[in-house]
Amino acid sequence: MSVIYYIGILATLLVSSGNPTISGEKGQGRHLVFTFDDGPSYKTTPLLLDYLDRLGLKAIFFVNGQRFNGRSHIVKRNLEVLKEVHRRGHKIGNHTYSHPLMSEVSKKKQYWQLAKNEKLIEKITGYKPRLYRPPFGQMSYHARVYLKQHNYSTLMWNLDSEDPFQRHVAKVYANVLSTLYFYKRGLVLMHDTNSWSIEAVPRIVKAIKLWNCELMARGEPIFEFGDVADFRLPGENKYKEPDLKMIKKAYKRRIKMKKWCETIGKGDNDS
Ligand SMILES: [Zn+2]
Repeated sequence: MSVIYYIGILATLLVSSGNPTISGEKGQGRHLVFTFDDGPSYKTTPLLLDYLDRLGLKAIFFVNGQRFNGRSHIVKRNLEVLKEVHRRGHKIGNHTYSHPLMSEVSKKKQYWQLAKNEKLIEKITGYKPRLYRPPFGQMSYHARVYLKQHNYSTLMWNLDSEDPFQRHVAKVYANVLSTLYFYKRGLVLMHDTNSWSIEAVPRIVKAIKLWNCELMARGEPIFEFGDVADFRLPGENKYKEPDLKMIKKAYKRRIKMKKWCETIGKGDNDS
């Protein structure tokens, strides 16, 4: 092995250490965040936004610029949908401009894919995205360098709905819940371009709420639909004590959950 080989490994380690990666299984408590990739789509995303509003949830959308940048009728409609995603308070993350396998394209093209998409998102939200999800979940050296320079965190997932391959509501539902049963927390990967994925969301949430009723009856912590901040970054080994405001909020959510559990069987628990 040559010295250059070892220098290369060291450089990769240094770069990756500066680009935090969150996978979802690490953290405190039973937290869950929905993430949706490859959109926006004027055909499917609006219904998802209505579902999320009704459920009182915020999600993260990892978008591709080519879907909402250009002059075609479809692209313009998608752009309006993405503005609505932002208006309703969801986070928007960078998923590259056209979803290439990053390791297969040149350094220049990798930078362009990230920078172009970043600019388009900034135009809509007013701020630079700081969350990245690699297309096909595949990281590359040059992307890591860019992400480090621009203060991104990479968000992977541990609760895979497998929705590109298993195109059925029941399959998506089962995949998310079975992995959640295993990990007890995590980041859900879905695609808001799939109608079957969107239809699975309210069903998954209802199942988790019913699960919460059982947990509460046993005096255990319940699942919370949280934020990325709930997942510990690599190197953050210390558990931070939540402040009083957060504890009060969690208490209120528990009371609300308890009330919901009490309504089960009375026909008013459809949300
Ligand atoms: Zn993707």
